[in-house]
Amino acid sequence: MSTYTKQEVKQLVDGTLAWDTVHQMISMPKDADRYKLYMEVIQEKLSYKHKVIMALGPHLNLAIRDGDEEIHAFCDCGKDFGHYKGNWKLNANIYVRDTAEKMDQVYPRLMAPDTTWQVYREYSCPDCGTMLDIEAPTPWYMCMHDVQPDLKTFFEWVGIPAPKKI
Ligand SMILES: [Zn+2]
Repeated sequence: MSTYTKQEVKQLVDGTLAWDTVHQMISMPKDADRYKLYMEVIQEKLSYKHKVIMALGPHLNLAIRDGDEEIHAFCDCGKDFGHYKGNWKLNANIYVRDTAEKMDQVYPRLMAPDTTWQVYREYSCPDCGTMLDIEAPTPWYMCMHDVQPDLKTFFEWVGIPAPKKI
């Protein structure tokens, strides 16, 4: 098992860590403090008080909400996207690329999917505009609920007491 410094974990989060080290980090068994360091690095980048417990994406985290200790999804700007058992995407702005003209903005003509078979849904924060996710479903498919973490099992696995309201 390898161990890494908080500075290396910060560089990993920032995308500035050398590829050889990144490859070694993801290939080897995780050091016991990795989760703690990872959460500290993410928390230090944020201005809100809610305690981050899990990253859902580069700018979206699960955090224990300051005040009532409920676990919600938060954008980096602090926008609350709702309880973690719900689908955060339903509280996002959604831009649907469902025409050839809209696909032309991201792909050369004839390189994009046929929008009668596949569309792109781009989810962004209504407060800061950060794009949080993109999905590529068939046009009629529902808004996907990507993940419902089993927080009880997760915290048992990392060996840290679970938040009160999981
Ligand atoms: Zn935001």
